[in-house]
Amino acid sequence: MRVGIGEDLHRVEEGRPLVLGGVTIEGAAGLAGHSDADVLLHAITDAVLGAAGKGDLGAHFPSSDERWKDADSRVFLTEGLRMAREGGWALSNVDATVRAERPRLAPHLEAIRESIAAIAGVEAAQVNVKAKSGEGLDAVGRGEAIGAMAIVLLEAAPRS
Ligand code: MG
Repeated sequence: MRVGIGEDLHRVEEGRPLVLGGVTIEGAAGLAGHSDADVLLHAITDAVLGAAGKGDLGAHFPSSDERWKDADSRVFLTEGLRMAREGGWALSNVDATVRAERPRLAPHLEAIRESIAAIAGVEAAQVNVKAKSGEGLDAVGRGEAIGAMAIVLLEAAPRS
């Protein structure tokens, strides 16, 4: 088994869609970023790459590369998991926390969980997503940024 950790933070930017775990949340201010700024998928992908010993998101998908301009971050997770699989690893489970003052994420957590499971090709039961507010403290608490943390467990893939 291998464990990996990931974390990310993006600045809130009005006029962009808010995408979390591949789900677009209507009526909320979005996040600044070179890609679609899906802070949750970025954290999860970094955790996958970390567990697989494959470096980090920025090394594989640099924001200096025009290919990733406004990119759908689902591609990053798919590619990260492909690299892990190449190394002989399969996703066992992922647990993540999104830190956001706004919007209230509780009503969206199930859809986000199902979206991540679909991208990763695993059961929804292997994915858990939690939400926390910032209690008015730090950039997240002031509503200036949304952050995410993730941890994943990889297991040796069954040989076929
Ligand atoms: Mg990011």
